[in-house]
Amino acid sequence: MGTITKSDGKLVVPDDPVIPYIVGDGIGRDITPVMINVVDAAVEKTYSGKRKVQWKKVLAGVEALEASGLTLDEVDALSMKEKQRVYLPDDTIKALSKHVVSIKGPLTTPVGGGFRSLNVTIRQLLTLYACVRPVKWYPGVPAPLRDPGKLDVVIFRENTEDVYAGIEWSVDSMEAKKVREFLKELGHPLPNDSAIGIKPISEGASKRLVRAAIDYAIAEGRKSLTLVHKGNIMKYTEGAFRNWGYEVALDEYGEHFVREGETHDGANLSAKIVVKDRIADQMFQQLLLRPGEYDVIATMNLNGDYLSDACAAEVGGLGIAPGGNINYETGIAVFEATHGSAPRHAGLDKVNPSSMILSATMMLRYLGWEEAADLCEEALAKTIHSKTVTYDLERLMDDATLVSTSKFGELIVMNMK
Ligand code: NAD
Repeated sequence: MGTITKSDGKLVVPDDPVIPYIVGDGIGRDITPVMINVVDAAVEKTYSGKRKVQWKKVLAGVEALEASGLTLDEVDALSMKEKQRVYLPDDTIKALSKHVVSIKGPLTTPVGGGFRSLNVTIRQLLTLYACVRPVKWYPGVPAPLRDPGKLDVVIFRENTEDVYAGIEWSVDSMEAKKVREFLKELGHPLPNDSAIGIKPISEGASKRLVRAAIDYAIAEGRKSLTLVHKGNIMKYTEGAFRNWGYEVALDEYGEHFVREGETHDGANLSAKIVVKDRIADQMFQQLLLRPGEYDVIATMNLNGDYLSDACAAEVGGLGIAPGGNINYETGIAVFEATHGSAPRHAGLDKVNPSSMILSATMMLRYLGWEEAADLCEEALAKTIHSKTVTYDLERLMDDATLVSTSKFGELIVMNMK
């Protein structure tokens, strides 16, 4: 069995790579097996046995809890860190790191207490600094946008810092008290009942993310890069992200870029990628009113989270939005659906597996298995177009046939030529 490695900045992918997968909580158990069947069929049909994914199941979330043999009461008595290790064992992180490329189903995060998001923890432990979320419309998918085909964006969301860095203290903690006292000394007194969260935005992490977005834009022949920020309010964090982004585009990659609105006599500006910036709240409007004007988007963690869900909704919902978390230096990448574990729908063989399948399609492209990726994507698009779809799309389409998660997967395989 082959192990993926990285050499001279490039992934070296054997014909039988071991790819770890996490089933995921909630609907993860419905969609992950379907994704595996579809990928196996596409790889088999494309390469006739010459290539094959060696799937390696690794544990996280509820499955990891079950395997630990601990009761919920026993887990509840553990410290936050110990609890997290039960739900996300060290062996899982080691496997994701060793095998370089992997895929995961959604994992449930308790709100308020419990433990930190396992999804965020995986991204941070492996420094998967770029969360890449392509959003486009597939013909036939019912969408709220008047002309959804105009939206075709790829969002690069910074994954390691911002208010997601996990530097946060509850209102009555010793740390929050100390920070309140320190802020008072600095002339910023806060009410004594203030909880505290910190928003770090660094030059290094911002520039690294923008470089990844730029490399992608150049490689894919994209037309524009938009830096999204709230720098009018948060000048030294979000505003700095904007400035660092322009520095990377115009100083480091100057031959490829032109700033929006700039003109040079006689220069062939049409061959260049336009770099522009938008304030986050305006960007939400822009993506609704002028979706065709945006292409590659680079932004920080929180903006990127909101923006990718909003874009997904514009083209027909979370059920079809894929994603990948990537460190382009180490090559380590964990692909995952953009949606969560939707516990209400779990175990019903009901939800849409497209997001997970399209995430696997991204993964196949990342491996360089473009032909298998194309086959997957075309068969999925064909299945949707023929109006045999899961409940989320069926209820919005005229004359559609409702099918289960597993049946939808079978139809995709049947639609592979
Ligand atoms: P969610 O994405 O799980 O579900 C929201 C709604 O979206 C669902 O009720 C459903 O109507 C719809 N939906 C989601 N996926 C769908 C699919 N495949 N097919 C059809 N409809 C679908 O969001 P939530 O309810 O806010 O979160 C549930 C849990 O998932 C939380 O614990 C949250 O922390 C976690 N979560 C995990 C990830 C991740 O693993 N990366 C991402 C987001 C949320």
